[in-house]
Amino acid sequence: MSEQNNESIVRETPVLSLDDKLGLVKRKIDKTSHIEVDQEGFSKCPDRPILFICPANVYEENPETGECTVNFENCLECGTCRIVCPDYVDWKNPQGGFGVSYTFG
Ligand code: SF4
Repeated sequence: MSEQNNESIVRETPVLSLDDKLGLVKRKIDKTSHIEVDQEGFSKCPDRPILFICPANVYEENPETGECTVNFENCLECGTCRIVCPDYVDWKNPQGGFGVSYTFG
């Protein structure tokens, strides 16, 4: 491929925002969550990184109860929470046929 053709390909590649990219992810959502949070472990965790490391904002702290809510339907299956918070996050792969499918990648 010539250098000129490479330049035209680069120019035609759209620049997508993170929200645009996340919009390309297709999900088949199960009725039951593939993620469980041990609330006692969450409450004892001093820094609660789980509230900040998830790219899909799956985890939120309920301001009234102090418990961690899990919006499992948003999960991108990146595995970050399994690495960062294994003491109180129980993450399993979604059941067969459920979960995410990526358009690119
Ligand atoms: Fe969030 Fe990734 Fe964990 Fe899913 S696997 S809940 S996207 S950090």
